[in-house]
Amino acid sequence: MYKEELAKIKQKALEEHIPIIMDDTLEVIENKLKENKPNKILEIGTAVGYSAICFSEFLDENGIIDTIEREEDRVAEAKENIKITGVQDKINIIKGDAVEVLPTLKGLYDMVFIDAAKGKYPFFLKEALRMLAPNGIIFADNVLYKGYVLSDYNKHKQRTAVRNLREFLAELKSDDCLETEILEVGDGLAIARKIK
Ligand code: SAH
Ligand code: MG
Repeated sequence: MYKEELAKIKQKALEEHIPIIMDDTLEVIENKLKENKPNKILEIGTAVGYSAICFSEFLDENGIIDTIEREEDRVAEAKENIKITGVQDKINIIKGDAVEVLPTLKGLYDMVFIDAAKGKYPFFLKEALRMLAPNGIIFADNVLYKGYVLSDYNKHKQRTAVRNLREFLAELKSDDCLETEILEVGDGLAIARKIK
């Protein structure tokens, strides 16, 4: 059964330290998707397909998820997981670096989930905004990065990621076309709706 298979996928990913979406973050996103069923979702960072499989349940009829992953073995495992759970008609995996893939895509997406290299978030945001449908919503995971982003912390090998996440949040907040909230669930979740 679908839910049992999904539980096994989650368990294996956790055992292998693959950074899949945390339960509280997933719950917040699922509640938003229930209110407003998306037809097209873009995900940046598939890993083994866990979050995409979870989101696929909330798609509108005939809806589709495009999801991008650069690691070959993860793409293979995601394909397998999508088959096992029977959602292969709803999820389209694009293998490649999102920095190269995104400029080749054409919108519109009702939801964009940003969950890949933190240092690239400002670029991912620019591309997400280009393809976001009116009233569309962007979710971005890990935006508080273990609390580093909102602290005065800047001596770390990850300081470029932290700097770029700060820039990403500042851009979200200063954009008049967006209504933005930052939640402290999981590793930090940004939610931005396009209001004009
Ligand atoms: N969304 C998944 C977890 C994604 S983890 C879930 O919740 O189930 C982040 C993934 O993004 C990793 O698998 C990593 O290989 C991929 N990634 C990181 N930077 C990327 C990039 N620039 N282009 C494509 N994939 C990237
Ligand atoms: Mg994440």
